[in-house]
Parts: sequence; structure tokens; C-alpha cells
Amino acid sequence: MQTQKEPGFRESVNLMFNRAVTLLDLPQGLEEKIRVCNATYTVRFGVRLRGDIHTFKGYRSVHSEHMEPVKGGIRYATSVNQQEVEALAALMTFKCALVEAPFGGSKGGLCIDPREWEEHELEQITRRFAYELVKRDLISPSQNVPAPDMGTGEREMSWIADTYQRMNTTDINGKACVTGKPVTNGGIQGRVEATGRGVQYALQEFFRYPEDVAKAGLSGTLDGKRVVVQGLGNVGYHAAKFLSEEDGCKIIAVAEWDGGIHDPKGIDVQDLRDWISKHRGVKGYPNGTYVENGMVLIEEECDILLPAAIEGVVNAENAARVKAPLIIEAANGPVTAKADEILRQKGAVIIPDLYANAGGVTVSYFEWVKNLSHIRFGRMQRRQEEARHQLVVDELERLSADSGIGWQLSPNFKDKYLRGAGELELVRSGLDDTMRTAYQSMREVWHSRSDVDDLRVAAYLVGIARVAQSYGTKGL
Ligand code: GLU
Repeated sequence: MQTQKEPGFRESVNLMFNRAVTLLDLPQGLEEKIRVCNATYTVRFGVRLRGDIHTFKGYRSVHSEHMEPVKGGIRYATSVNQQEVEALAALMTFKCALVEAPFGGSKGGLCIDPREWEEHELEQITRRFAYELVKRDLISPSQNVPAPDMGTGEREMSWIADTYQRMNTTDINGKACVTGKPVTNGGIQGRVEATGRGVQYALQEFFRYPEDVAKAGLSGTLDGKRVVVQGLGNVGYHAAKFLSEEDGCKIIAVAEWDGGIHDPKGIDVQDLRDWISKHRGVKGYPNGTYVENGMVLIEEECDILLPAAIEGVVNAENAARVKAPLIIEAANGPVTAKADEILRQKGAVIIPDLYANAGGVTVSYFEWVKNLSHIRFGRMQRRQEEARHQLVVDELERLSADSGIGWQLSPNFKDKYLRGAGELELVRSGLDDTMRTAYQSMREVWHSRSDVDDLRVAAYLVGIARVAQSYGTKGL
């Protein structure tokens, strides 16, 4: 997506890292240690398919092992390459540090177009890739825990978990070797929606601070804000759905790979998603205006731009024409370092990827803990909580009757109050808390340091400082 004049993705992440690290007083050697990627493993393996042997190329990169296991998704796309995987692994390191998920950073990728293969073929390919990584401890509950990313989901994670468990039959914690599994196979409620949900929580938190909102030249609440979404995949879809259905945002445009849909009255996200699933693209969608070059929608007049698919969509070529005063990076690296500079000069506020899309890894962390503890969240407390609430309600009703006042609790109140939290409620609560806390730590740096004037530098500062601290305690 990026133009030739621009640095590549890896370099772009380095530039952002450098902008922040110079503001910290770290020894030169430690700074370099934190910047570089520890190791990248490349594998080529053959799978016999359709009567022929097909060779696939995959990667697993480990950026930092200051905490283990290391964590990060596995991406399936033809564009996967070493630079990209390393850039994404680096982002994982600082993202995990920022949201206090106790992991180092890693990322994997397979050069493949998943749409070209049948399900059973993809299973064979995935199992073989997983085998190669498990053999080298690049998939392991204690050392390296992958998750879904672009082009992969619950299905692939389930195959990976099964492959690991077949190779490690006595590992009682085997299921924790990967996150993002289906709930029926060791997954956790709320993981599929997690990244999009995190984007929603991030925006809600941002809008709790009128002075932060004012920095973007906006005011008021999320209600009625016009949002442009780039990419209606798992992340973009959930973010857009929650923002429109629960916060009153208006999704005025959606850009997809085969074009875009524009409707100033607001797009019905679920309806469009259903259309895309059925027709494999937005083309022909009957509501709103179809735009053949969907990317121009990124330049549309709106309040919030939400790039949710791939890196480099906002770049040196189009950044000057982007009109959104607020950009939330739901994808990893959607804004290049060059574009970041242009947008900052224009006064736009960018809620950076390190923070904005951390919901995925946060709930992955909960899933990993669930797998290691071998018990579903809420199983011990739920009924006890309900019983205690029942006590209060009974007592209130007794008081009301005895005193003759005849107060009635509204049925709605009873319904809500008497229901103990299940796994989904607990996951959402943990995610919301994580997003709020991480925002606070970024915000404090943003507002208290005169040499920090954007959230990205603030996010990197918090992340890098924590990684440095962790190395420090190890004696490095
Ligand atoms: N692939 C997601 C990300 O980029 C999730 C990673 C994880 O859950 O480990 O953050």
C-alpha cells in the first residue's frame, strides 16, 4: 500500500520507536536491545495437495523475550514477509507492555491466499505449519502462544491446538499453547469480538475527557459522530457494530477490498456484513452508493476514521487529504510514520494501534489464564453472588412491606441486580478495565510532559519504559 519513497513497515515502527526512546534516559545498549528483533525463523515446507507437492513459506518472529511466553497472532496472506512479521512482533511487545499483558512480543505469518484452498486443504497446511513451529518451541504454552490475525480465526487455532496436543500428549496445559480457540475447544467467551470491543472501549474512554476530545477539534459524546471504517473484517465489523448499535455513532462509509459503500444517513453494519459474507465483497450492495475505489473513502469528511484491516493504508500519498480530526488505529500500523507526521502537523489526534487494538491480546491473556487454571471464569462465584444479592432484595422487600410504605423495586432492577456475572460479563469487565487503565497511563504522560504532544509517543514511552524495567530487574 505504501509508496516507494516511504520507509517500509519495519522501518516505520522503528521511526516511531525512536521518536519515543530519545525522550527516555536509557543506556544506549539497552535502547538497541529493546529495538531489535531477537529472532525470526523462516520455514519452507511441502504439502501434497491436488496430486502435487506445494511448497509454503512461513515465519515466526520473536521480538522480545523480556517476559515469556511471547505472544502474537499468525497471519495468512500472500503479502506476508519477514519485514512485516518483524514489525508486527515489535508492536506486540509494546502493546502487551502497555496493557499489562505479561508477555513478550511475537508474530507469525504464512504466505498463502486462504481463499484459494478448500477447508480440508487449509487444515493440512495449518497442521503442517504448526508441526514445524511446535518442533522448535515456537508454539508452546510456556514459551510462545499464537493467536488469530488477518486470514485466520477459531478454526485454525483449533487445528493448531490439536496438533500441539498430539505432539505433547502428557502436557496438562496443552490447550494454552494458542488462544482464540472456539469456546467448545478451550476458548473463552468474548474473544472473537474482543479487538472490536476494545476499540469501542478505547473510544468511550477517550470521550470521557472533554479536553482530550477538544484536542481533536471535536466536542460532546460519541452519539451522532460520523465514522468511516476501512475493512469490515472481524475487527472492523465488531467495532462498527458496537459503535453504531450501542453508542449512537453513524457509520457513513465502509471501504473494502473490492470497493466501498457510502451512505451519509448511516450504514446498517450487520446488513452489510451479511451481504459481504454472501457475495464475498461489497459490490452490488443495494443500500448506499457504491464507490469502485474504496480507498478514496478514507479521505471522506467525517469525525472518526477507523482503519481496521492492514498496515500502510494512510500513507504519504493520501495523508494530506485525510479530513478526519480523530483516527483510531484498529489495525496494526495503518498509518505510516510519514503519514503520522503529516497528520500531526494538521492537528489530527491519533489513538495509536498499540493501545487501540490491544483488546484482542487482552482477552487472549484471559483465555490463556483460563486454560492454565482449567476452570471457566465465574464458575465458583456466580451463584454465591446471586444468593447475596437475593438477600438484599428480600430484605428490601420485607422492609417495604413491614413499614407499610409499599415501595416496589422495578422489575428491571431485580433482573439486572440478581444476575451473577458469567464468563462473558467478566471478560468484558476485565477488558473495559484494561482499556481504561492503559488510557490513563498514556494520558498521564501525554498531559504531564511538555515534550510529548501525541498519544503515540505516550504509548511507546509507557511500553518501552516497562520493557526496560523488566530487563533491568533481570540484570541486563
Ligand atoms: N493478532 C492480534 C494482535 O495483533 C492478537 C494477538 C494475540 O491475541 O496474541 O494483537
